[in-house]
Amino acid sequence: MRLAERAGNISPSPTLSIDAQAKKMIAEGIKVINFGVGEPDFDTPENIKQAAIKAIRNGMTKYTPVAGTDALRRAIVKKLAEDNGLNYEPAQIVVSAGAKHSLYNAFQVLCQEGDEVILPAPYWVSYLEQIKLAGAKPVIVPTRLENNFKLTPGELQSAITPNTRVIIINSPSNPTGAVYTREELAALGEVLVKHNIVIISDEIYEKLIYDGNEHVSIASLSPALKELTVVINGVSKSHAMTGWRIGYAAAPQPVAKAMADLQSHSTSNPTSIAQAASVEALEGTQESLKRMVAEFVKRRDYMVERLNAIPGVKCNRPGGAFYVFPEIKSLLGRSYAGVKINGAADLAGVLLEKMHVAIVPGVAFGDDTCFRLSYATSMDNIKEGLDRIEKVLTSLE
Ligand SMILES: *Cc1c(COP(=O)(O)O)cnc(C)c1O
Repeated sequence: MRLAERAGNISPSPTLSIDAQAKKMIAEGIKVINFGVGEPDFDTPENIKQAAIKAIRNGMTKYTPVAGTDALRRAIVKKLAEDNGLNYEPAQIVVSAGAKHSLYNAFQVLCQEGDEVILPAPYWVSYLEQIKLAGAKPVIVPTRLENNFKLTPGELQSAITPNTRVIIINSPSNPTGAVYTREELAALGEVLVKHNIVIISDEIYEKLIYDGNEHVSIASLSPALKELTVVINGVSKSHAMTGWRIGYAAAPQPVAKAMADLQSHSTSNPTSIAQAASVEALEGTQESLKRMVAEFVKRRDYMVERLNAIPGVKCNRPGGAFYVFPEIKSLLGRSYAGVKINGAADLAGVLLEKMHVAIVPGVAFGDDTCFRLSYATSMDNIKEGLDRIEKVLTSLE
């Protein structure tokens, strides 16, 4: 059967496929240390589960408005005002089946053939595919480890052409964990306003932020920036709710309306029960989040220290999210057990096969001199996994 060209151009998510491979080995009884995970290893807090159970009992099992229930949209409006200093009307909020779906809707209504979208690298894999699915051209702009993988105004300026329409900013970042400061965002914002470039600001890791770093939404920096920005957020990462599939966008009204109209013909509303649970996630106690953040900090610190102690490995201390992104440039070209390591993809193969450790090679994010380790796994796993990685990286020939 002939597939549409569009289908042929999609690459499956490499992060999900490595995760799947590791899970398959685990199912076969092999003890795999999985650093590939892209979700918190904590359970959804009890108060949130109870809200969902109550919603089922109360018959909240029917279609809801396409863009989300009034209760959830009001809770989101309140959250954006309190946490981010952003004032929106409920009509500017669109709730979708996860932030990934919100991003998809945004690219679909904002981009068309001939448009260029600036994508700072290392980037989260789905941005690249979603840009292409919208018919636009991704313009990948590499950032540097020395600058904590953050885009500078100069780098931004030189990537802009008359066709530039959108930029994606993801802070805290997956995969690097980098957090932009208020000043850095203001400097980028100045260039973006000057060229009238729309900003898709993916703030899904907002709550997973460490060392007193402050999360700043670029939309909050000026009315002009707010008019240009689509804010994307959700409960998946902040409340350990990846399986519930609730994300949302806040946007200028015509954009929000277009996203809701698009959604009305694809998925309709997100799950009614998960929406009720998300109201509790946003309005209920945030104790579980605090515990999760404290645990993530411990794990991150341990990992960064262990990685930097391995000769040839350079690892920044990320300010947010739950990933570290070490670089192994100076080790490339050497071999392990006869296998030449020319990039992190080769290392990932060796680690999974010989050491039963799953990592995500940087090739998935546009930079194969680095790899991503998630610390959304237990401290015992982290210790054991790093022992194994160290064994390989210290015995390259
Ligand atoms: C996890 C993730 C998302 C999507 O989360 P959902 O589960 O779809 O809400 C979006 N952006 C980034 C960078 C992520 O890592």
